Amino acid sequence: MYEIACDVAVVGGGPAGLAAAVAAKKEGAGEVLIIERDSALGGILQQCIHPGFGLTYYNEELTGPEYAGRFEEEAEKEGVKALLNSMVLEVDAQRSQVLCVNAQYGMTTVKAGAVVLAMGCRERTRANIMIPGTRPAGVYTAGTAQRLINRQNEIVGRTMVILGSGDIGMIMARRMTLEGAKVVAVVEIMDYLAGLTRNKVQCLDDFGIPLKLSHTVTRIQGNERVEGVWIAAVDGQKVPIPGTEEYIPCDTLLLSVGLIPENELTRAAKIEMSPVTNGPEVNQFMETSAPAVFACGNVVHVNDLVDNVTVESMKAGASAARYAAGNLPAAGSTASVKAGENVRYTCPQRIVTGAGDEKVTLYFRVLQPEKDVVIRAVSKGHVLAKRKAVRVNPGEMEHLAVNPAEIADGDITVEVVKEA
Ligand SMILES: Cc1cc2nc3c(=O)[nH]c(=O)nc-3n(C[C@H](O)[C@H](O)[C@H](O)COP(=O)(O)OP(=O)(O)OC[C@H]3O[C@@H](n4cnc5c(N)ncnc54)[C@H](O)[C@@H]3O)c2cc1C
Repeated sequence: MYEIACDVAVVGGGPAGLAAAVAAKKEGAGEVLIIERDSALGGILQQCIHPGFGLTYYNEELTGPEYAGRFEEEAEKEGVKALLNSMVLEVDAQRSQVLCVNAQYGMTTVKAGAVVLAMGCRERTRANIMIPGTRPAGVYTAGTAQRLINRQNEIVGRTMVILGSGDIGMIMARRMTLEGAKVVAVVEIMDYLAGLTRNKVQCLDDFGIPLKLSHTVTRIQGNERVEGVWIAAVDGQKVPIPGTEEYIPCDTLLLSVGLIPENELTRAAKIEMSPVTNGPEVNQFMETSAPAVFACGNVVHVNDLVDNVTVESMKAGASAARYAAGNLPAAGSTASVKAGENVRYTCPQRIVTGAGDEKVTLYFRVLQPEKDVVIRAVSKGHVLAKRKAVRVNPGEMEHLAVNPAEIADGDITVEVVKEA
């Protein structure tokens, strides 16, 4: 078997893996190797040709390929190596090594001082949400349709309905309209928008595409090809309301119904997982429950903005480099970060205390949209940090920074409450 040794091995060469690799190098790691199954670096950003990337990190509006390109250039400058066309099959957390199959070398073992997991996520499909009806051609996930149009110049249909108001669904509504297709409606089961408000304005409102909240697709019709879909209003329990069914003739249904972090490798490595995010639980160093294994990006939790992915991944890469060099603070006592009122989850889920007073940014999503709220982190009745927010939305990631040196023994709770 072919063998490679390095200080930090990064699994996945999307924006998370690239940022982690660059940061590991800047932190002083010798050999840093990205292992990527695709024939190019950049991950999902290669197909995201729309602008909207880098607004906070670069204070500029870039396209996905432009954003990824900047990190690829930096990675090259820093001397990061990449093993492309290499599918990672196993992560051995105990031995800190990775098994992959490479197009040129065959089965390859990469032995590393530390490993960073950055495998991103995949889309939920029709099978995941079980839409009844026939099984004709013309049902695509929005990301697949995006790849086909943006990278292979193939349009998937002419008249379409999009299920799901997440960012990919809304961006594809605009993309398909610009390509001459008719997007009849974007249908959303929740009574609120799943993605960013700015995407509703720029991708739906500007093109007159109707958004039907509290609606879902109840049936797909067609034999060889989709001929139409049935949609219906849903009640508070998301159950279709009899008598509200409406038939929409179309040749295509695009599904933008959520992302699943790619964690088969993580689970097989017996790393502790969060049942809410379906990603590994991490501390402020993005260190998982397995020593020497770090994680970042969409494999940890689904991010709306690549800028947040970058910041979090730089932390993971730098921490992995410090671990490989034996310089990462050993876990003293650990505080759990709990999701309190109107908070679905937090990342990180743990904070190592006694490891300095560098502020830790807690990323989280709310459960319900709300206006005029206070976001706060509380430890044993002591408010560690708080700020006001005019509105919060499950589709938009929130964050709050806390000083770990101020944490009393015990847990921290992040909560979003109405102003007294
Ligand atoms: C359609 C769409 C539109 C978006 N629009 C915006 C926007 O306008 N602005 C913004 O800021 N953000 C946007 N985002 C979000 C942003 O792109 C993501 O948060 C970010 O790309 C996640 O980066 P990642 O590196 O974690 O994952 P990915 O980009 O998915 O990269 C993961 C990489 O890991 C590789 N990999 C996975 N498993 C293996 C394995 N076993 N072996 C080897 N390699 C593996 C994959 O091939 C891939 O290259 C958008 C996302 C999508 C999908």
